[in-house]
Amino acid sequence: MKKLVLSSMLAALAFSSAAQNQFDDVEISTTHVGGSVHMLVGAGGNIGVSAGDDGVLMIDDQYAPLAQKITTAITALSDAPKRFVINTHYHGDHTGSNAFFAENKGVTIFAHENVRIRLASGDDVNPAMLPVVTYQDGVKFHLNNETIHVFHLAGGHTDGDSAVWFEQPDVLHTGDLFFNNMFPYIDLGAGGSVNGYIQSVETLLGKIDDDTKVIPGHGVLANKADLQRFVDMIKETNAFVQSQKAAGLSEQAVLDAGLPEKWDSWAWRFITEERWIKTLYQ
Ligand SMILES: [Zn+2]
Repeated sequence: MKKLVLSSMLAALAFSSAAQNQFDDVEISTTHVGGSVHMLVGAGGNIGVSAGDDGVLMIDDQYAPLAQKITTAITALSDAPKRFVINTHYHGDHTGSNAFFAENKGVTIFAHENVRIRLASGDDVNPAMLPVVTYQDGVKFHLNNETIHVFHLAGGHTDGDSAVWFEQPDVLHTGDLFFNNMFPYIDLGAGGSVNGYIQSVETLLGKIDDDTKVIPGHGVLANKADLQRFVDMIKETNAFVQSQKAAGLSEQAVLDAGLPEKWDSWAWRFITEERWIKTLYQ
């Protein structure tokens, strides 16, 4: 019994040091987007930051091993207190540093209700990682001379998606409703769906114009044309797979045939063409 406990403790230690090593080389880069708003890129979901005299508001916070580096990058922008984190959804590459910022910086975490429910039902839940303020439809912040609209979009990437629009500098953070130039991950097991995802992206497109700067969940800083090209890709690849399915082809047959070559460049490490076809076929 004792031996078992010890070996599982050692396994946990080995795992956590491997996890730490994986982030040792990650650097956080900062881009000024407009007004008080900056985009931080490290590993995991892109972080949006409003930094100014009123304090710091963050959108998402990547992985726990990066929390100190993220803090350093934000403090370089402003030494005002870190006050708020908004989680665009529950995935660990967007919420991993929640507990760090709540426990060490005293931030208040905001998210859609389903984000709290999903995080609370995970393994090894530290209560500090849970959103303290939850909403159904959205919430508005008035901070650093910006009006910041946080709004829920139903059943796209997950069942708890939010996007954030900074009215004055006209910047939209999409959460994972946008993977710039990449096939998206759609979490079908957590309330996401392909049609819901398309609908949510089209809702976002309807709210912005050609001057809006768009921070995607993953990928480089973008604009409306990039988001339009992304949803066009989803609709066209979906129509392609659905027509083959309707013609009676099995999932394996569609996988064997593959997508037309023009979509090759959208595949990446996490969402390969195979994984994207499987998502569309379901
Ligand atoms: Zn995600």
